[in-house]
Amino acid sequence: MACSIEKELIEQTIAFHGHNCPGLSIGIRASELAMEKLDIHESKSALCVTETDMCGVDAIQFLTGCSFGKGNLVHRDWGKSAFTFYDRDVGKGFRALFRDDFRESEKDAELTRDLMARALKGRATGEEQTLVRERRSQRIHQIMNADLDALFVSKEIDAPPVRPARILKSIPCDTCGEMTMETRIRLFDGTRMCIPCFQGVEQKI
Ligand SMILES: [Zn+2]
Ligand SMILES: [Zn+2]
Repeated sequence: MACSIEKELIEQTIAFHGHNCPGLSIGIRASELAMEKLDIHESKSALCVTETDMCGVDAIQFLTGCSFGKGNLVHRDWGKSAFTFYDRDVGKGFRALFRDDFRESEKDAELTRDLMARALKGRATGEEQTLVRERRSQRIHQIMNADLDALFVSKEIDAPPVRPARILKSIPCDTCGEMTMETRIRLFDGTRMCIPCFQGVEQKI
């Protein structure tokens, strides 16, 4: 079944992200799944773990209310199109993985990447640019109109995927003096350093 989210809300999501793209469509459909399975919008204790930091995450922030700032959107840098949603009050959730067979074929994906790269550098012909646009809107259309089951493999979970956000202590970096969250401090020769200061000395040795 095609996406059940109202058109106006989808348009607002596109405006929030800045453009319409297949990645955003994946995020929109994943959010729809979360709304259906968990009533995520009404939940005060929703949580999302995203395994990608691509376009789709903007849809999740806009549509589900899970956001980085609130600490209930967690990024795991695993480079997969997978999203886990969990409702702590109800104690249930699921992980949705974008299906392989819904991905573009490797050949098509390569063609798209190549075209996009040239279009970005202004080296694509007018015809090629039209082709890029057409392919993108075709992909968006496909994703927005597919059954959710055809798009994602989802697996129920009954334990939270991450621990609740904690307020951590901050301590000053010995080099620049700026307050830094304890867990982000590095030690160098007995000196406590923030990550940029640490990287600065590390590059010199
Ligand atoms: Zn995008
Ligand atoms: Zn520092």
